[in-house]
Amino acid sequence: MTLAFGSHMSASGGVDKALARGEELSLESLQLFSKNERQWQASPLDPETVQRFHEEVARTGITKLVVHDSYLINLASPKPDILGKSIPAFADELDRCDILGIPHLVTHPGAHTGSGVEAGIAQFGRSLNEIHASMPESKTVTLLETTAGQGTTLGRTFEEIAAIIDLVDDKSRVGVCLDTCHIFAAGYDYRTPEQYAATMAQFESVIGLDRLKVIHLNDSKQPFGSNKDRHDHIGDGEIGLEGFRQFVNDPRLDGIPGILETEKDNAGENDRRNIATLKGLVAR
Ligand code: ZN
Ligand code: MN
Ligand code: MN
Repeated sequence: MTLAFGSHMSASGGVDKALARGEELSLESLQLFSKNERQWQASPLDPETVQRFHEEVARTGITKLVVHDSYLINLASPKPDILGKSIPAFADELDRCDILGIPHLVTHPGAHTGSGVEAGIAQFGRSLNEIHASMPESKTVTLLETTAGQGTTLGRTFEEIAAIIDLVDDKSRVGVCLDTCHIFAAGYDYRTPEQYAATMAQFESVIGLDRLKVIHLNDSKQPFGSNKDRHDHIGDGEIGLEGFRQFVNDPRLDGIPGILETEKDNAGENDRRNIATLKGLVAR
């Protein structure tokens, strides 16, 4: 047993198209955008596409599905205009997941853009509570992604993630996505068994491993502690194979989606190679 290896797949031509692309690579989990990630507005999912999506999930057996939200959304923003666009956009992201039956929506915990860490965290909590209150029927769980800590982004420490969760009224609606590149860039080392144990012990005591629902598997082009977010192929970057060996052999993570967000090529060879590399690290 190990992680359920997968990758972020293109939904170009319709969300239903992502499944066949995942099947082609024998993925066990899959992440997608449910709309254009660089635009605020999206037309609603049409019922035929939704039906084809459900059929494709059943046909391919790829049931460990995750949506990543739009990069424009900033639920921690101190600016009323940004917040005014982010809150409805995020509610729409949750709604699209509900329609597609996708349990997890990954989001970055925003950026305070000058208001300060504390104010940013407080605003993120208020935003999420407002959204939750407006859609009590939603079943989608929001996963806060650990970040590299670039600029004024929040989520660079496990404590910042925990502080946000602390503010959420309904804690059953929130979890965490750990990105291997981001935590490494943020200063959490795990390249030796001892470092890995210490980092995961910190995660357990500060956030709780029961909150960890998805792992993003990316190597890092930038050095340890750089606070820069640049993904590299597994084993090619500053983390190296030993770091990934720890994650794929941790029995506490068995079955959790482990999703690549590494550079694509049209033939899918990069994804194939990265997954083969990860599988090769799993101890027999
Ligand atoms: Zn992300
Ligand atoms: Mn990520
Ligand atoms: Mn990243």
